[in-house]
Amino acid sequence: MKKCRYCGTPQSDERHTCVDCGRPLPKPLSAEEAEAIEDALDDQLDAMSDRTNAFYVSRTDKIFGCLGILGLIAAVILTAISGTELNHIYDARDAALIDAIQSGNPFGEATARFSPTRASVLDQCVYGALIAIVFFIFSVPSLLFPKFIWFLDTIGVRLKYDFDPSPSAFAEASMKLSKYIGFTIGCIALAYAAWMYF
Ligand SMILES: [Zn+2]
Repeated sequence: MKKCRYCGTPQSDERHTCVDCGRPLPKPLSAEEAEAIEDALDDQLDAMSDRTNAFYVSRTDKIFGCLGILGLIAAVILTAISGTELNHIYDARDAALIDAIQSGNPFGEATARFSPTRASVLDQCVYGALIAIVFFIFSVPSLLFPKFIWFLDTIGVRLKYDFDPSPSAFAEASMKLSKYIGFTIGCIALAYAAWMYF
């Protein structure tokens, strides 16, 4: 293998002038040098064919996927803390009701100690966080592991007809669309839950 001194194009030993820039070529490279260049070229070609694969995971998808995992964790924490706070509110109301009933005044005392506004806000927070959890659980795997999701989606075909279906252009487009829509709805629901809580 020869490598052009001017433009860096690798080419065969038989050539005397560069295939790319037409200038004279130096002596052939040593076996090790030639191998290193071939390996680098192979890596580049592999990366290029990876990118044309329907299941290629782009850097953006990896970032969205990781954000989705963080969002999922945040939503679970929000559900837990607002659920706990809600329980405290209801426990306090029940305790107040029991006190009031025992002291012969079932309405005045109980309604005074119950804070329905905070309870309904926390309720909304729990709903928002649960929606976020559902959508992140659905979008994170399709962002990070599209091949695995496709495998699960088509397992019936695989078992029945014993072949590996590749996604049609339509299936590919809808997979792409649904993972971004899922991620977006998850983010909106999480933002709503956080807004309700704080
Ligand atoms: Zn050249």
